[in-house]
Amino acid sequence: MYGAMTETPQPVPDPAPAPEPASAPVAAPAEARPSLVGLDRAKLGAALAAIGVPEREQRMRVNQLWHWIYLRGATDFSEMTNVSKHLRAQLEAAYSLDRPEVVVEQVSADGTRKWLLRFPPHEIGESPAEIETVYIPESDRGTLCVSSQVGCTLNCAFCHTGTQRLVRNLSAAEIVGQVMVARDRLGDYPGRDRATGPGLPTEGERLVTNIVFMGMGEPLYAYDSVKEAIEILSDGDGLGLGKRRITVSTSGVVPEIERLGSEVGPMLAISLHAVRDDLRDVLVPINKKYPIKELLAACRAYPAASNAKRITFEYVMLKGVNDSPADAKALVKLLEGVPAKINLIPFNPWPGTQYECSDWETIERFSDIVFRAGYASPVRTPRGRDILAACGQLKSESEKLSARERLALRAMMAADAED
Ligand code: SF4
Repeated sequence: MYGAMTETPQPVPDPAPAPEPASAPVAAPAEARPSLVGLDRAKLGAALAAIGVPEREQRMRVNQLWHWIYLRGATDFSEMTNVSKHLRAQLEAAYSLDRPEVVVEQVSADGTRKWLLRFPPHEIGESPAEIETVYIPESDRGTLCVSSQVGCTLNCAFCHTGTQRLVRNLSAAEIVGQVMVARDRLGDYPGRDRATGPGLPTEGERLVTNIVFMGMGEPLYAYDSVKEAIEILSDGDGLGLGKRRITVSTSGVVPEIERLGSEVGPMLAISLHAVRDDLRDVLVPINKKYPIKELLAACRAYPAASNAKRITFEYVMLKGVNDSPADAKALVKLLEGVPAKINLIPFNPWPGTQYECSDWETIERFSDIVFRAGYASPVRTPRGRDILAACGQLKSESEKLSARERLALRAMMAADAED
């Protein structure tokens, strides 16, 4: 993702100590208690079965947990007032409601927020995984950009994340956990202290209204996790983010686009970035496997696409590479017959890249051609270009540091921000 920020890093406050449960058995250490946050109904049912909840009760108990975890954002079992004390004590002894660890939180002057999150290893010997989640507020909506993989295999030439090796796919729980963290930090649950500050949405009751899978990784290479996460996120009894408010952005994994359309049905975005195969082979190398013609055919066939639910085509503006008027005209021609909108993204340079961002006049000329052809073509506003802003950069900076160095970095950034 390339929407960078002017950032004011905030140290992450230590969480308040959890209240002692009244008559609970002595709880195991937190790290020994798996979190229920991010689990689907079947996994919650299995967790209840594992602590001896009879089968006939499980459905009702799952519904209660679902309500408290996803609708109310409970962080402690003691909040679950309609669950019996005995069961709450059993839950407390065996499980937690932990969210992913927030390593760094950055808040920009325009209200954009970015979190570096850490997940425990999945296997013995594996390092903890770190990913980024970004919240982009506008007056009438708040969009959360989530990651689906730790690193990425695809090496898109203009993308900083592509320079980081793939560590692993995120699980569905880790994807949903990103949404839970954002809503926690924004106070975006009923009865919570709602975050205030410049740039936050003023309309509507919710601060996180839309989800885009445009963070680290190729979501269709983490297909099973993404599918399960979307089912949890869109459940109307919980987080309630309808599939029209969830967009999966892919570099063009054609077979999985078809599956996503028929099995899940969220909105679709394509990282297009070039209109000719020879150039797209370089910018988005997966194009060698699934060239533009096949990609566009999958878009035309995408079941969830219509004039009311257009496919977004992302197009990063690279100076002298893909930004000529001829490219703009070819783009319009290429998208004939596809219910499309085109998102022009000023390139956000990162250290070591060979590319530069197109001049503003060039971007405007390109946008005019696309607009005159009848396509909405918003230009994504750059939000600062300092060193920690580019996608993937915060992670790569952080992973070189020890915990102590991280604290020192945070303190230094906070001090810088006050200057
Ligand atoms: S698929 Fe996305 S995250 Fe991966 S290299 Fe390409 S643009 Fe970057």
